[in-house]
Amino acid sequence: MSAVKYETVIGLEVHAELKTLTKIFCSCPTEFGGEENTHICPVCLGLPGVLPVLNKKVLEFAVRAGLALNCEIAGFSKFDRKNYFYPDLPKAYQISQYDLPICKGGRLEIETNGEKKTIGVTRVHMEEDAGKLLHGGASITTSQYSLADYNRTGVPLIEIVSEPDMRSAEEARAYIEKIKAILEYIDVSDVKMEQGSLRCDANISLRPVGSTKLGTKTEIKNMNSFRSLQKAIEYEVTRQEDILEERGTIVQETRSWDEEKGVTVSMRSKEAAHDYRYFPDPDLVPIVVEPAWVDEIRAALPELPEARRQRLVDELGLSLYDAGIITGTRAIAEFFDRVVSQYNEPKIVANWIMGELLRLLNANNLEISDCKVTPDKLAALLKYQAEGTISGKMAKAVFDEMFATGNEPGAIISEKGMVQISDEGALLAIVGKIIAANPQSVADYRAGKEKALGFMVGQIMKETKGQANPGAVTKLLKEKLDALS
Ligand SMILES: [Zn+2]
Repeated sequence: MSAVKYETVIGLEVHAELKTLTKIFCSCPTEFGGEENTHICPVCLGLPGVLPVLNKKVLEFAVRAGLALNCEIAGFSKFDRKNYFYPDLPKAYQISQYDLPICKGGRLEIETNGEKKTIGVTRVHMEEDAGKLLHGGASITTSQYSLADYNRTGVPLIEIVSEPDMRSAEEARAYIEKIKAILEYIDVSDVKMEQGSLRCDANISLRPVGSTKLGTKTEIKNMNSFRSLQKAIEYEVTRQEDILEERGTIVQETRSWDEEKGVTVSMRSKEAAHDYRYFPDPDLVPIVVEPAWVDEIRAALPELPEARRQRLVDELGLSLYDAGIITGTRAIAEFFDRVVSQYNEPKIVANWIMGELLRLLNANNLEISDCKVTPDKLAALLKYQAEGTISGKMAKAVFDEMFATGNEPGAIISEKGMVQISDEGALLAIVGKIIAANPQSVADYRAGKEKALGFMVGQIMKETKGQANPGAVTKLLKEKLDALS
């Protein structure tokens, strides 16, 4: 090992597909799937003589995202053409924004290992998505042919560019998770990394500790989950470190993450902005945004994850950690609120959501929106438990059944005869029976062996197939035994 220690510098470029009904410059549907080349028209195919018209909803969503990321919203911005040839881009240029983006100068707070840190958001700009290629072989260079599907061409995107403020793979992961949560809260994107509606490229470089000059960077693409983002960055940092240790040179290039092999591989040398010959798109008028409209959008912003998390801590007494999980997505936070509105025990509700509900959702790879257990049903179940109708153990079994079938907890409890026996008369009869049947245990208990009590409680639970209320049983049994002496 050499004495030089390196600092990792990471910046992320996040692309999010906006969930507008139609594309950015034409009225084709943005809907995912559909038969190939059916969501297309002369505009998104860039046929001669057509003119693009900006979808106002795209501008509104971009402004909403910019405000949520604490950006300045530009009163004047414009679209530019980014010129390059690739078969998924029918016009041979992408309509994007270059020097005058709609939003800039934002920031976002992340937390890793309990430490907070602010990450700068350089800019947010609008652009159109490209189509999809399906190669006849393993890659475009080794295929006899490739098929082009232009359904995705012209689907609106925002690109969120961060400052190179992150210093580890964990920070990068915390940042993208935060971006995802915010975009989900403000309802502008589906943010599904696996389906490609949220995509992320990472710029990574190393520099000697103490240096303020940026090292040569590589750009990593093709990471389609939080986990692969983290793994790709960790791999790339080690790869660059090894090169620098050997006194080698880092080549500025674009590299692709190979999930199967767990390595990054060189794709192409990195382009610079001037390679794209950006120029203002003459077919689109510049965008002038009125401050009053921005104020309207700001006023309509929902409560963001950070504020909601703090509210759960301050008003409902949840721990910061629990509140962080509950507010991790807007859907979970709303589910929680609806349960608590009917069963006002926030801590218990949070434990059920974080324990049983999220466990089963993860195990079944489901979103909370697909879940058959509604907030009403969970609240009803918790009330049955609180009233002592069922034990905690039974409640978990009922919950599993609710999750699988979507049935009402009351129906499951009576159908399975799961009602807990708390009635003193009924319990006293069973207690008497067990005392009579176990004279040795009674003698042991009277001789001071506490263990004998546990044994007899166990016998009663067995006798009642677990339906006796264990607290009530222990109390009654003790009273009876103590009365014998
Ligand atoms: Zn179209």
